Amino acid sequence: MSNMQFYIDETEEYILHTYNRYQVVFDHGDGVNLYDADGKEYLDFVSGIGVFALGYNNKKLNDAIKTQVDKITHTSNYYYNAPAADAAKAVVEASKMDKVFFTNSGAEAVEGALKVARKYAYLKDGKTDHEIIAMQHSFHGRTFGALSVTGTDKYREPFGPMIGNIKFANMNDLDSVKALVTDKTCAIICETLQGEGGIHPATEEFIKGLRTLCDEIGALLILDEIQCGMGRTGYMYCWHKYGVKPDIMTTAKALGGGIPMGAFLMTKEVADNSLVAGDHGTTYGGNPLAGAACKEVFKLYDELKICDNAKEVGDYLFEKLEEVKNSYSEIIDHRGLGLMQGLEFNGPVKDVINNALDKGLVLINAGTNIIRFLPPLIVTKEDVDKMIVLLREAIEHAHS
Ligand SMILES: *Cc1c(COP(=O)(O)O)cnc(C)c1O
Repeated sequence: MSNMQFYIDETEEYILHTYNRYQVVFDHGDGVNLYDADGKEYLDFVSGIGVFALGYNNKKLNDAIKTQVDKITHTSNYYYNAPAADAAKAVVEASKMDKVFFTNSGAEAVEGALKVARKYAYLKDGKTDHEIIAMQHSFHGRTFGALSVTGTDKYREPFGPMIGNIKFANMNDLDSVKALVTDKTCAIICETLQGEGGIHPATEEFIKGLRTLCDEIGALLILDEIQCGMGRTGYMYCWHKYGVKPDIMTTAKALGGGIPMGAFLMTKEVADNSLVAGDHGTTYGGNPLAGAACKEVFKLYDELKICDNAKEVGDYLFEKLEEVKNSYSEIIDHRGLGLMQGLEFNGPVKDVINNALDKGLVLINAGTNIIRFLPPLIVTKEDVDKMIVLLREAIEHAHS
């Protein structure tokens, strides 16, 4: 029995089966490559779902984390800690927001964002029945608040009731949003580029329309940048491309460079008129370990010009995936921005992804019919070329 089968069996025996996992155990990584427990090398175009923006085994990031491990990994948020302070400055400056609250995950960042929006509205009119508008096909996480604004019925239905007073509009259809507005609307939440829902970018017109609408009705605009942020689209945060500033923004995935970390950020106006001491908290969020990792991540983004690379190699990937799309009739659409792109097929992509894995290429789906491309942001054009060869083989193999 291979090393891998042992751990696959052990996992299935003891870990609750909430994922249909690919039949591989990754053991270590280096740059854009992953290695499984039997030593096989893979080219990775998933980066742990947008987490390993800097690639695997970045020595400077590893050292920053190790150094912090030897000092202290956790204090409590009742005390100040230097890494969190430095990380906060870095994320506030990079995001162009004003204040941050650190969490341990994306879902928790969304929870916080929703609490901020409700408290802001509560302080204005004293009411406790505010409504939030979210988008169909959105994904904001698995906890109750985040799930309540996630626009996929099958994720929500078995767990009802949701948090309440949430309505769903259609992405890129401003009229569908306007039709849901009432005097109770306190916020609109939207991913700037939908990830899990199938790589659907918001149009510039839509994002600008949401901003204007929010200003008109006195609601807050929440942009979820958990997947599309952190340089993924060639901009530090995707909204920077449109120059439309949200009132609240969420970020996670690449933020901690592999250490669990998320954050919600807000403008000064929102910060001054929402949560106060005692309103929100977390044991681990922004602890010294995550802070040290996050601080180093931003330093390395500057040093390695990560956003520029994402833009340049992202454009190249776009050209190459267009060619792939035009070669196969089963590919019906190609969408995305920077290093966050998707190919939509006319049927399930599971076989293509499994074939790719056999050939040493790691890909992931978004929904059943879409292959999602989320490589480490240090990926090169040569890596893209290698990926394209393997992808074509995987598609053709699925034919035979
Ligand atoms: C992944 C994701 C989340 C949830 O993040 P977790 O860290 O898994 O809780 C929320 N929103 C978006 C857009 C995501 O891609």
